[in-house]
Amino acid sequence: MVNSHEHIYQALLAITSEENVLLNEPLKKHTYTHLGGPADFFVTPETYAEVQEIMKLANKEHIPFTLLGNGSNLIVKDGGIRGIVMNPYKLNKIETTGTTLVAQSGARIIDASREALAAKLTGLEFACGIPGSVGGALYMNAGAYGGEVKDVLQSAIVVTREGELLELQAEDLDLSYRTSNIPSNGYIVLEATFLLQIGNYEEIKAVMDDLTFKRESKQPLEYPSCGSVFKRPPGYFAGKLIQDSGLQGKQIGGAQVSLKHAGFIVNIADATANEYIDLIHHVQDTVMKNFGVRLEREVRIIGDDQQ
Ligand code: FAD
Repeated sequence: MVNSHEHIYQALLAITSEENVLLNEPLKKHTYTHLGGPADFFVTPETYAEVQEIMKLANKEHIPFTLLGNGSNLIVKDGGIRGIVMNPYKLNKIETTGTTLVAQSGARIIDASREALAAKLTGLEFACGIPGSVGGALYMNAGAYGGEVKDVLQSAIVVTREGELLELQAEDLDLSYRTSNIPSNGYIVLEATFLLQIGNYEEIKAVMDDLTFKRESKQPLEYPSCGSVFKRPPGYFAGKLIQDSGLQGKQIGGAQVSLKHAGFIVNIADATANEYIDLIHHVQDTVMKNFGVRLEREVRIIGDDQQ
């Protein structure tokens, strides 16, 4: 370890315990695509105060900082990520009171929807198969089958890049189709409060079972992937354009346009991030050539190329 790395490591150990700071942690262990090189510092805070201190440290010392949720909507490049990668999976409490459900950002949104079911609350059924964290779901206003975070979010607690804690109302986050202002403001989501409605257990469960069945029958869940790679282009369906371009089954290295759902790219044989990204570009170029439609990525690509 070079000096500045040692300095950062010691500063992190002054904030959180040793088991919460991993060095050169392979990020392929933490992403749904099973892609990605190492993080210099992989930090898993256990309290909001620790998150605030880590943000202050990164800000003061100009340390590159990345927030990784459940890793289900991003591709980390093969060279990994420099600086601090924070993963809040240990902040994962979910509680219901009356018709509100409060979830910490590291909890899985799937677990929040199960908790809502257990409390006989309706509104989060759409999220029962979205494999992201609560924080990641707010970041991109996750949604499925006609529902989205925007419909049920009441408020959120976030931390700024300077380490300040803010309580925001849902409207402050500018949630719209697969976007919010969380990235442009550099907010780290710590907690979300959802406003639900009293429902009937059997009816809520029936909706969740139906959505799960639809998902399992249509999506290649047997392979690592990042879900739908592209946003829905206005007036079209990305999967249909890809299918009609004859791209299903197209493979670059271990990455393949799914045979089951053309909107997914699956890691079928130990792909590298490079192969996966090359295949994304190939799909975008081919669809543009055939239909004149630019497919915009829903999934984020982050990190460094391998040296
Ligand atoms: P990550 O992939 O870890 O991160 C994505 C972005 O969110 C990053 O920029 C990250 O910095 C940011 N982020 C994560 N947590 C926080 C936080 N606490 N504070 C601030 N920023 C944060 N999405 C849908 O909307 N609908 C679907 O139906 C759907 N189906 C999917 C099916 C499969 C099989 C897969 C693999 C993915 C699917 N997705 C779907 C995509 C993905 O699950 C969602 O986008 C999810 O919201 C991403 O959350 P995450 O925690 O995994 O975020």
